[in-house]
Amino acid sequence: MARNVDPVCRMCRREQMKLYLKAERCFSPKCPIDREALPPGMHGARRSKTSEYGVRLREKQKLKRFYGVLENQFRRYYQLATRSPENTGEQLLSILERRLDNVVHRLGFAGNRNTARQMVAHGHVLVNGRKCDIPSALVKPGDVIKVKAVDRSLKMAREGLQKNLVRVPDFLVVTNNSDAPEGSMTRLPSRADVDERIDMIREQLIIEIATR
Ligand code: SF4
Repeated sequence: MARNVDPVCRMCRREQMKLYLKAERCFSPKCPIDREALPPGMHGARRSKTSEYGVRLREKQKLKRFYGVLENQFRRYYQLATRSPENTGEQLLSILERRLDNVVHRLGFAGNRNTARQMVAHGHVLVNGRKCDIPSALVKPGDVIKVKAVDRSLKMAREGLQKNLVRVPDFLVVTNNSDAPEGSMTRLPSRADVDERIDMIREQLIIEIATR
């Protein structure tokens, strides 16, 4: 299971925007973006004119880095989105929002998507009562996501709930009526449900580069 292991703050500096790849630090004055850090690299301070292709490429990279997906997986999601009669860009965002690691993070059980991914991959999360250790699994409306009722899993989820400073979106609900943190998806996410920290993304530009 490949994943991007680049230093996370470097990725934000490259995109010159907060991608919220850590937890509390992203909301603290320690965040390099808040201190107007330059793009990484020896020539980071040099400002060159970005080509039209470059603008589209950066938009795609932002989206991939925000959700923690690599190029091959992104291609698969794009293919899946093109099969829908709906707007391809909006479908692409909806698919990314349905990833199990994203859902675990947005339910508040993990402080960021990397931790959520690790929780899923290490078997701390149940989907409809069964262990699912595939972070890229797509959650469907009606699916119940629950943290395993064992000490280690519960400890991780409690830490996540403390660190997560983001509100639960409307397409998910958290239920507190069981022994372990639990939530479910009530409907498919729409464009309006996209994480507000990346909702300025211009999906049309991403589709333009993906069709090349
Ligand atoms: Fe680092 Fe978070 Fe700031 Fe990005 S938003 S630069 S990950 S602290």
